[in-house]
Amino acid sequence: MDDILKPRPAVERMTAYAPPTAGRAGKLRLDFNENTVGCAPAVLAFLHEKLDAETLAIYPEYGAARAELAAHFGVPQSELLLSNGTDEAIQLLINTYVDAGDEVIILEPSYAMYRFYAELGGARIREVHYRAGTLAFPLDELLEAMSDRTRAVFISNPNNPTGTAVALDVVEQIARHVPSAAVLVDEAYYEFCGVTALPLLDRCRNLFVSRTFSKAYGMAGMRLGCLLSNDRNLAFVGKVHSPYSVNILAALAARAAIRDAGYVGRYVKEVLAARETLSHGLKAMGIPFHNSAGNFLLIEMGDDAVGVRTALSAAGVLVRDRGREIKGCVRVTVGTQEQMERFLDVLRMIWPKADQEGTERPLQS
Ligand code: PMP
Repeated sequence: MDDILKPRPAVERMTAYAPPTAGRAGKLRLDFNENTVGCAPAVLAFLHEKLDAETLAIYPEYGAARAELAAHFGVPQSELLLSNGTDEAIQLLINTYVDAGDEVIILEPSYAMYRFYAELGGARIREVHYRAGTLAFPLDELLEAMSDRTRAVFISNPNNPTGTAVALDVVEQIARHVPSAAVLVDEAYYEFCGVTALPLLDRCRNLFVSRTFSKAYGMAGMRLGCLLSNDRNLAFVGKVHSPYSVNILAALAARAAIRDAGYVGRYVKEVLAARETLSHGLKAMGIPFHNSAGNFLLIEMGDDAVGVRTALSAAGVLVRDRGREIKGCVRVTVGTQEQMERFLDVLRMIWPKADQEGTERPLQS
Protein backbone atom coordinates (compact mmCIF):
# COMPACT_ATOMS: atom_id res chain seq x y z
CA MET A 1 0.00 0.00 0.00
CA ASP A 2 1.62 3.24 -1.05
CA ASP A 3 -1.28 5.50 -0.04
CA ILE A 4 -0.38 5.29 3.65
CA LEU A 5 -1.38 8.24 5.82
CA LYS A 6 1.65 10.47 6.33
CA PRO A 7 2.42 11.74 9.83
CA ARG A 8 4.12 15.10 10.51
CA PRO A 9 7.75 15.09 9.31
CA ALA A 10 8.98 15.35 12.92
CA VAL A 11 7.10 12.16 13.79
CA GLU A 12 8.46 10.40 10.73
CA ARG A 13 12.02 11.38 11.65
CA MET A 14 11.99 10.48 15.33
CA THR A 15 12.98 7.11 16.70
CA ALA A 16 10.32 5.28 18.68
CA TYR A 17 10.98 4.93 22.39
CA ALA A 18 10.07 1.50 23.74
CA PRO A 19 10.91 1.08 27.43
CA PRO A 20 11.43 -2.53 28.53
CA THR A 21 8.51 -2.47 30.92
CA ALA A 22 6.85 -5.88 31.06
CA GLY A 23 6.70 -8.53 33.74
CA ARG A 24 8.77 -6.57 36.27
CA ALA A 25 6.57 -7.06 39.34
CA GLY A 26 7.99 -9.49 41.90
CA LYS A 27 11.55 -9.20 40.59
CA LEU A 28 14.37 -7.24 42.17
CA ARG A 29 13.69 -4.04 40.20
CA LEU A 30 16.99 -2.21 39.94
CA ASP A 31 16.35 -0.94 36.41
CA PHE A 32 14.17 2.20 36.64
CA ASN A 33 15.43 4.09 39.69
CA GLU A 34 12.07 3.58 41.38
CA ASN A 35 11.51 3.15 45.09
CA THR A 36 12.23 -0.57 45.44
CA VAL A 37 9.84 -1.19 48.33
CA GLY A 38 6.87 0.97 47.38
CA CYS A 39 4.99 3.98 48.68
CA ALA A 40 4.11 4.78 52.29
CA PRO A 41 1.29 2.64 53.74
CA ALA A 42 -0.37 5.95 54.66
CA VAL A 43 -0.84 6.65 50.94
CA LEU A 44 -2.76 3.42 50.41
CA ALA A 45 -4.82 4.02 53.55
CA PHE A 46 -5.74 7.54 52.38
CA LEU A 47 -6.79 6.23 48.97
CA HIS A 48 -8.99 3.59 50.62
CA GLU A 49 -10.56 6.24 52.82
CA LYS A 50 -11.23 8.74 50.04
CA LEU A 51 -12.15 6.57 47.10
CA ASP A 52 -15.78 6.01 46.32
CA ALA A 53 -17.90 5.81 43.18
CA GLU A 54 -18.72 9.52 43.14
CA THR A 55 -15.05 10.54 43.45
CA LEU A 56 -14.31 8.48 40.34
CA ALA A 57 -17.38 9.79 38.51
CA ILE A 58 -16.38 13.45 38.89
CA TYR A 59 -13.71 15.13 36.75
CA PRO A 60 -10.71 15.68 39.03
CA GLU A 61 -10.67 18.73 41.29
CA TYR A 62 -7.19 19.79 42.32
CA GLY A 63 -7.83 22.53 44.90
CA ALA A 64 -6.77 20.59 48.01
CA ALA A 65 -3.77 18.95 46.35
CA ARG A 66 -2.53 22.24 44.90
CA ALA A 67 -2.86 24.03 48.22
CA GLU A 68 -1.08 21.30 50.18
CA LEU A 69 1.68 20.82 47.60
CA ALA A 70 2.31 24.56 47.29
CA ALA A 71 2.63 24.77 51.09
CA HIS A 72 4.97 21.76 50.98
CA PHE A 73 7.25 23.53 48.50
CA GLY A 74 6.86 26.87 50.27
CA VAL A 75 5.50 28.68 47.19
CA PRO A 76 2.22 30.40 46.29
CA GLN A 77 -0.17 28.21 44.29
CA SER A 78 0.39 30.37 41.21
CA GLU A 79 4.00 29.13 41.12
CA LEU A 80 3.13 25.42 40.97
CA LEU A 81 1.61 23.29 38.25
CA LEU A 82 0.67 19.61 38.70
CA SER A 83 1.61 17.45 35.73
CA ASN A 84 1.17 13.89 34.57
CA GLY A 85 4.67 12.95 35.65
CA THR A 86 7.78 14.98 34.86
CA ASP A 87 7.30 13.75 31.31
CA GLU A 88 4.26 15.95 30.80
CA ALA A 89 6.12 18.92 32.33
CA ILE A 90 8.90 18.46 29.76
CA GLN A 91 6.36 18.32 26.94
CA LEU A 92 4.59 21.42 28.27
CA LEU A 93 7.82 23.40 28.20
CA ILE A 94 8.50 22.36 24.61
CA ASN A 95 4.94 23.18 23.58
CA THR A 96 5.05 26.56 25.30
CA TYR A 97 8.47 27.83 24.22
CA VAL A 98 9.81 25.84 21.25
CA ASP A 99 8.62 26.14 17.65
CA ALA A 100 9.57 23.70 14.89
CA GLY A 101 13.13 24.53 13.81
CA ASP A 102 14.02 26.24 17.12
CA GLU A 103 17.13 25.19 18.99
CA VAL A 104 17.00 23.04 22.12
CA ILE A 105 20.11 22.05 24.08
CA ILE A 106 20.28 18.70 25.78
CA LEU A 107 23.15 17.14 27.65
CA GLU A 108 24.20 13.63 26.74
CA PRO A 109 23.78 11.15 28.16
CA SER A 110 20.70 12.22 30.07
CA TYR A 111 17.04 11.44 30.51
CA ALA A 112 15.64 10.29 27.18
CA MET A 113 12.40 12.27 27.27
CA TYR A 114 14.12 15.64 26.72
CA ARG A 115 15.15 14.50 23.26
CA PHE A 116 11.87 12.66 22.72
CA TYR A 117 9.66 15.73 23.18
CA ALA A 118 12.12 18.08 21.50
CA GLU A 119 12.21 15.84 18.43
CA LEU A 120 8.44 15.50 18.48
CA GLY A 121 8.16 19.27 18.50
CA GLY A 122 10.42 19.48 15.45
CA ALA A 123 13.21 21.27 17.36
CA ARG A 124 16.79 21.40 16.21
CA ILE A 125 18.71 19.56 18.90
CA ARG A 126 22.15 20.60 19.96
CA GLU A 127 23.98 18.07 22.13
CA VAL A 128 26.54 18.84 24.80
CA HIS A 129 28.33 15.81 26.21
CA TYR A 130 29.23 15.08 29.81
CA ARG A 131 33.02 14.92 29.94
CA ALA A 132 34.45 11.66 28.62
CA GLY A 133 35.83 9.41 31.34
CA THR A 134 34.98 11.47 34.42
CA LEU A 135 31.38 12.25 33.35
CA ALA A 136 31.84 15.67 34.97
CA PHE A 137 29.37 18.45 34.16
CA PRO A 138 30.50 20.19 30.92
CA LEU A 139 29.91 23.78 32.00
CA ASP A 140 32.33 25.46 29.60
CA GLU A 141 31.01 23.47 26.66
CA LEU A 142 27.41 24.26 27.61
CA LEU A 143 28.06 27.99 27.97
CA GLU A 144 29.77 27.92 24.60
CA ALA A 145 26.86 26.10 22.95
CA MET A 146 24.14 28.41 24.29
CA SER A 147 23.20 31.49 22.30
CA ASP A 148 20.26 33.78 21.70
CA ARG A 149 18.93 31.13 19.32
CA THR A 150 18.55 28.66 22.21
CA ARG A 151 14.92 28.31 23.30
CA ALA A 152 15.22 25.56 25.93
CA VAL A 153 17.89 23.81 27.98
CA PHE A 154 17.29 20.62 29.97
CA ILE A 155 19.44 19.75 32.98
CA SER A 156 18.85 16.70 35.14
CA ASN A 157 20.27 17.37 38.61
CA PRO A 158 21.51 14.87 39.63
CA ASN A 159 21.79 13.50 36.13
CA ASN A 160 20.37 10.18 35.03
CA PRO A 161 22.32 7.99 34.21
CA THR A 162 25.70 9.51 35.12
CA GLY A 163 24.81 10.53 38.71
CA THR A 164 26.55 13.88 38.12
CA ALA A 165 25.39 16.74 40.36
CA VAL A 166 25.69 20.41 39.55
CA ALA A 167 26.00 23.22 42.10
CA LEU A 168 23.44 26.01 42.40
CA ASP A 169 25.81 28.79 41.39
CA VAL A 170 26.38 26.89 38.15
CA VAL A 171 22.63 26.59 37.55
CA GLU A 172 22.31 30.34 38.08
CA GLN A 173 25.19 31.04 35.70
CA ILE A 174 23.54 28.90 33.02
CA ALA A 175 20.11 30.52 33.43
CA ARG A 176 21.59 34.01 33.29
CA HIS A 177 23.61 33.14 30.19
CA VAL A 178 20.46 32.42 28.13
CA PRO A 179 17.75 34.78 29.37
CA SER A 180 15.57 34.05 26.33
CA ALA A 181 15.54 30.27 26.86
CA ALA A 182 13.49 28.16 29.26
CA VAL A 183 15.95 26.36 31.54
CA LEU A 184 14.55 23.28 33.26
CA VAL A 185 16.31 21.81 36.28
CA ASP A 186 14.80 18.34 36.57
CA GLU A 187 15.07 17.37 40.23
CA ALA A 188 13.62 13.86 39.94
CA TYR A 189 16.27 12.61 42.39
CA TYR A 190 16.22 15.65 44.70
CA GLU A 191 15.39 13.66 47.83
CA PHE A 192 18.65 11.68 47.51
CA CYS A 193 20.93 14.71 47.18
CA GLY A 194 19.13 17.55 48.97
CA VAL A 195 20.18 20.28 46.52
CA THR A 196 17.37 22.28 44.95
CA ALA A 197 17.24 25.24 42.60
CA LEU A 198 13.89 26.38 44.07
CA PRO A 199 15.46 29.39 45.85
CA LEU A 200 16.75 30.60 42.45
CA LEU A 201 13.26 30.94 40.97
CA ASP A 202 12.87 34.45 42.40
CA ARG A 203 16.11 35.60 40.83
CA CYS A 204 16.10 33.78 37.47
CA ARG A 205 12.96 34.58 35.49
CA ASN A 206 13.63 31.89 32.85
CA LEU A 207 14.18 29.05 35.32
CA PHE A 208 11.87 26.06 35.91
CA VAL A 209 12.23 23.27 38.46
CA SER A 210 10.49 19.90 38.23
CA ARG A 211 9.89 17.34 40.94
CA THR A 212 8.31 13.91 40.79
CA PHE A 213 6.52 11.40 43.00
CA SER A 214 7.90 8.56 40.86
CA LYS A 215 11.22 8.02 42.61
CA ALA A 216 11.74 8.41 46.39
CA TYR A 217 7.96 8.55 47.01
CA GLY A 218 7.37 5.20 45.30
CA MET A 219 4.48 6.31 43.10
CA ALA A 220 5.74 5.92 39.51
CA GLY A 221 2.47 4.21 38.58
CA MET A 222 0.50 7.27 39.71
CA ARG A 223 2.24 9.62 37.24
CA LEU A 224 2.48 12.80 39.26
CA GLY A 225 5.00 15.56 38.77
CA CYS A 226 5.24 19.21 39.76
CA LEU A 227 6.53 22.08 37.68
CA LEU A 228 7.59 25.22 39.53
CA SER A 229 8.48 28.64 38.20
CA ASN A 230 7.34 32.25 38.61
CA ASP A 231 3.65 32.96 38.13
CA ARG A 232 4.05 34.74 34.79
CA ASN A 233 5.82 31.75 33.22
CA LEU A 234 3.30 29.31 34.64
CA ALA A 235 0.40 31.37 33.33
CA PHE A 236 1.69 30.68 29.80
CA VAL A 237 2.49 27.03 30.50
CA GLY A 238 -0.96 26.67 32.04
CA LYS A 239 -2.55 27.73 28.74
CA VAL A 240 -0.92 24.72 27.09
CA HIS A 241 -1.89 22.29 29.85
CA SER A 242 -4.84 20.01 29.27
CA PRO A 243 -7.21 20.57 32.18
CA TYR A 244 -7.48 17.00 33.53
CA SER A 245 -4.14 15.40 32.71
CA VAL A 246 -3.54 14.44 36.36
CA ASN A 247 -5.97 11.82 37.57
CA ILE A 248 -7.74 12.03 40.90
CA LEU A 249 -5.89 9.07 42.44
CA ALA A 250 -2.57 10.84 41.89
CA ALA A 251 -3.88 14.09 43.35
CA LEU A 252 -5.14 12.26 46.45
CA ALA A 253 -2.03 10.12 46.86
CA ALA A 254 0.31 13.10 46.75
CA ARG A 255 -1.47 14.75 49.69
CA ALA A 256 -0.96 11.68 51.86
CA ALA A 257 2.61 11.20 50.64
CA ILE A 258 3.82 14.65 51.66
CA ARG A 259 2.11 14.40 55.05
CA ASP A 260 4.17 11.30 55.82
CA ALA A 261 7.59 12.92 55.42
CA GLY A 262 9.07 10.42 57.88
CA TYR A 263 8.51 7.54 55.47
CA VAL A 264 10.44 9.11 52.61
CA GLY A 265 13.13 10.36 55.00
CA ARG A 266 13.71 6.84 56.31
CA TYR A 267 13.76 5.39 52.80
CA VAL A 268 16.31 7.94 51.60
CA LYS A 269 18.53 7.24 54.63
CA GLU A 270 18.37 3.51 53.91
CA VAL A 271 19.23 4.05 50.23
CA LEU A 272 22.21 6.28 51.02
CA ALA A 273 23.60 3.65 53.39
CA ALA A 274 22.90 0.94 50.80
CA ARG A 275 24.74 2.99 48.16
CA GLU A 276 27.81 2.70 50.40
CA THR A 277 27.28 -1.05 50.73
CA LEU A 278 27.00 -1.40 46.96
CA SER A 279 30.08 0.81 46.40
CA HIS A 280 32.18 -1.24 48.81
CA GLY A 281 31.00 -4.50 47.27
CA LEU A 282 31.90 -3.33 43.77
CA LYS A 283 35.31 -2.06 44.91
CA ALA A 284 36.04 -5.40 46.53
CA MET A 285 35.28 -7.09 43.21
CA GLY A 286 37.42 -4.62 41.29
CA ILE A 287 34.49 -3.31 39.24
CA PRO A 288 34.74 0.42 38.44
CA PHE A 289 31.73 2.66 38.84
CA HIS A 290 30.89 6.36 38.84
CA ASN A 291 30.05 8.12 42.07
CA SER A 292 26.44 9.26 42.09
CA ALA A 293 24.29 11.82 43.85
CA GLY A 294 21.16 9.78 43.08
CA ASN A 295 19.66 6.40 43.96
CA PHE A 296 21.59 4.62 41.21
CA LEU A 297 25.15 3.81 40.20
CA LEU A 298 26.56 3.64 36.70
CA ILE A 299 28.83 0.61 36.67
CA GLU A 300 31.53 -0.14 34.11
CA MET A 301 31.31 -3.76 33.10
CA GLY A 302 33.20 -3.47 29.85
CA ASP A 303 32.76 -6.22 27.29
CA ASP A 304 30.90 -8.30 29.87
CA ALA A 305 28.05 -5.81 30.30
CA VAL A 306 25.41 -7.44 28.12
CA GLY A 307 26.21 -10.94 29.35
CA VAL A 308 26.11 -9.84 32.98
CA ARG A 309 22.81 -8.04 32.50
CA THR A 310 21.29 -11.11 30.85
CA ALA A 311 22.57 -13.42 33.60
CA LEU A 312 21.26 -11.06 36.30
CA SER A 313 17.90 -10.97 34.59
CA ALA A 314 17.77 -14.78 34.48
CA ALA A 315 18.33 -14.69 38.25
CA GLY A 316 15.38 -12.28 38.70
CA VAL A 317 17.51 -9.14 39.09
CA LEU A 318 16.71 -6.34 36.64
CA VAL A 319 19.31 -3.68 35.80
CA ARG A 320 19.48 -1.24 32.89
CA ASP A 321 22.00 -1.50 30.09
CA ARG A 322 23.34 1.98 29.24
CA GLY A 323 25.92 0.72 26.79
CA ARG A 324 24.40 2.65 23.91
CA GLU A 325 25.32 5.91 25.65
CA ILE A 326 28.45 4.91 27.56
CA LYS A 327 30.20 1.84 26.32
CA GLY A 328 30.08 -1.14 28.67
CA CYS A 329 28.01 0.64 31.32
CA VAL A 330 25.10 -0.75 33.28
CA ARG A 331 22.92 1.37 35.59
CA VAL A 332 21.87 -0.19 38.86
CA THR A 333 19.19 1.34 41.10
CA VAL A 334 20.10 1.45 44.77
CA GLY A 335 17.41 -0.09 46.98
CA THR A 336 17.60 -1.28 50.56
CA GLN A 337 20.68 -2.70 52.28
CA GLU A 338 19.22 -6.19 52.06
CA GLN A 339 18.50 -5.78 48.33
CA MET A 340 22.03 -4.56 47.63
CA GLU A 341 23.48 -7.53 49.53
CA ARG A 342 21.30 -9.76 47.37
CA PHE A 343 22.42 -8.00 44.20
CA LEU A 344 26.08 -8.38 45.17
CA ASP A 345 25.59 -12.08 46.02
CA VAL A 346 24.13 -12.74 42.56
CA LEU A 347 26.79 -10.60 40.87
CA ARG A 348 29.58 -12.49 42.63
CA MET A 349 28.18 -15.73 41.24
CA ILE A 350 28.09 -14.54 37.66
CA TRP A 351 30.82 -11.88 37.38
CA PRO A 352 33.31 -13.37 34.95
CA LYS A 353 36.33 -11.78 36.59
CA ALA A 354 35.28 -12.28 40.21
CA ASP A 355 38.07 -14.73 40.97
CA GLN A 356 40.83 -12.66 39.41
CA GLU A 357 43.00 -10.81 41.91
CA GLY A 358 44.21 -7.32 41.08
CA THR A 359 41.73 -6.50 38.33
CA GLU A 360 40.61 -3.33 40.08
CA ARG A 361 40.66 -0.34 37.81
CA PRO A 362 40.74 3.14 39.34
CA LEU A 363 37.34 4.69 40.03
CA GLN A 364 36.40 7.29 37.50
CA SER A 365 34.98 9.94 39.74
N1 PMP B 1 13.50 12.89 35.07
C1 PMP B 1 14.54 12.07 35.21
C2 PMP B 1 15.91 12.63 35.28
C3 PMP B 1 14.34 10.69 35.27
O1 PMP B 1 15.38 9.87 35.39
C4 PMP B 1 13.03 10.18 35.19
C5 PMP B 1 12.70 8.70 35.24
N2 PMP B 1 13.62 7.82 34.86
C6 PMP B 1 11.99 11.07 35.07
C7 PMP B 1 12.26 12.42 35.01
C8 PMP B 1 10.59 10.57 34.94
O2 PMP B 1 9.78 11.16 35.85
P1 PMP B 1 8.22 10.96 35.85
O3 PMP B 1 7.94 9.55 36.23
O4 PMP B 1 7.80 11.95 36.88
O5 PMP B 1 7.69 11.29 34.49
